[in-house]
Amino acid sequence: MGKLVLGCIADDFTGATDLANNLVRAGMRVVQAIGVPTTPLDADVDAVVVALKSRTIAPAEAIAQSLDALRWLQAQGARQIYFKYCSTFDSTPQGNIGPVTEALMDALQCDFTIATPAFPDNKRTVFKGYLFAGDVLLNESGMQNHPLTPMTDANLVRVLQAQCTRKVGLIDHTVVARGDAAITERIAQLKGEGVSIAIVDAVSNDDLLRLGPALATMPLVTAGSGVAIGLPANFGLAPSSQASALPAASGLRAIVSGSCSLATNRQVLDFIQRGGAALAIDPLRIAAGVDVAAEALAWAAPLVGKQPVLVYSTAEAGAVKSVQGQLGVEEAGAMVERTIAAIARGLVDQGVRQLVVAGGETSGACVQALGIAQMQIGPQIDPGVPWCHARAEAAKAAGGAGVHIALKSGNFGGDDFFTKAFTVLA
Ligand code: ADP
Repeated sequence: MGKLVLGCIADDFTGATDLANNLVRAGMRVVQAIGVPTTPLDADVDAVVVALKSRTIAPAEAIAQSLDALRWLQAQGARQIYFKYCSTFDSTPQGNIGPVTEALMDALQCDFTIATPAFPDNKRTVFKGYLFAGDVLLNESGMQNHPLTPMTDANLVRVLQAQCTRKVGLIDHTVVARGDAAITERIAQLKGEGVSIAIVDAVSNDDLLRLGPALATMPLVTAGSGVAIGLPANFGLAPSSQASALPAASGLRAIVSGSCSLATNRQVLDFIQRGGAALAIDPLRIAAGVDVAAEALAWAAPLVGKQPVLVYSTAEAGAVKSVQGQLGVEEAGAMVERTIAAIARGLVDQGVRQLVVAGGETSGACVQALGIAQMQIGPQIDPGVPWCHARAEAAKAAGGAGVHIALKSGNFGGDDFFTKAFTVLA
């Protein structure tokens, strides 16, 4: 068994994959665990990312889950802890970024940590403590209207202070630009002023790489996925193709898609226009009691041995609204997720061993249906979306077979994603 160095706690599922992907690209071998594992780690990796679903649950529950994850990671020997949240700092006035950060600091007896969602590759930058999404401030980016975590203030010092009892300060760009010695000096100064948590400016990957060495001895780092690019070097790790090596892919290929994002709509269309075998499923027929999953599997059976198949509920906004109007938003979502998960499971039973899933919630449902508890993170297909491999033991429900799986959240991936994915694996 190798030595686990970095233990990560992510507050949602696709965010965990995003972090794992950045760590792999910076040279770490990474496993993502779905929830807190109940057994010891049995993979030879440098980092584990424990994926929670704690972003919008009650703060006390988020703390309990995060501490549970911390205890497991410490038991596996993790030397540094990384608390990962969204690059748009998704949180409410109650949390959960602040409360979880402080609970982890207490547990780790850590007197200082940083907080920065900066992820320049994804156009999230922090300057003078203000978070930008693309060219606009966070509170003008659409995030001010988010249904669960409306972000109405782009000043992260203020936002985090409102969630914390400890004092929050800023390491601004003039300091970050001067490198890790200046950052270390600024941290000492902030500590002297009674500050325990510092928002850190970063507008480029170079900033994040300069920040990395200053974090080497910090027991806890809190950030989006961007900071991850500067951490592996602290453990003597450099980018290598070995970090993303997965077992050789074999078996049949399929795609299931429950995402209705603009990007996924384009990807479905592109796959069909290239002559791909595709079947649309109709939520209203599921609601009418038709066994749509069985129909889809009967359709796929004679085809999947010859070519990748795509089964999708992906539809354009108007059609989705109409279905939601008839069935209810939650009911429609849950029903389609259940059906697609059953199809994914059935496809694996038919011999599919390379599976692409489109949709964040849809991915959660499929991973659960396949009984996947842990995935090794492999090569990136498009930014933020790597191939993963669930070993046989980690995917018991999948007939005891190992499965390569790519989980694509809504707006990720180029138009040719469903074709490109299999090329990357080959
Ligand atoms: P994304 O990552 O694009 O947000 P998700 O899978 O997270 O994708 O969410 C899409 C939601 O829409 C899921 O709950 C899914 O079941 C639901 N859904 C998928 N297709 C349809 C459809 N045709 N009509 C209504 N709801 C749908």
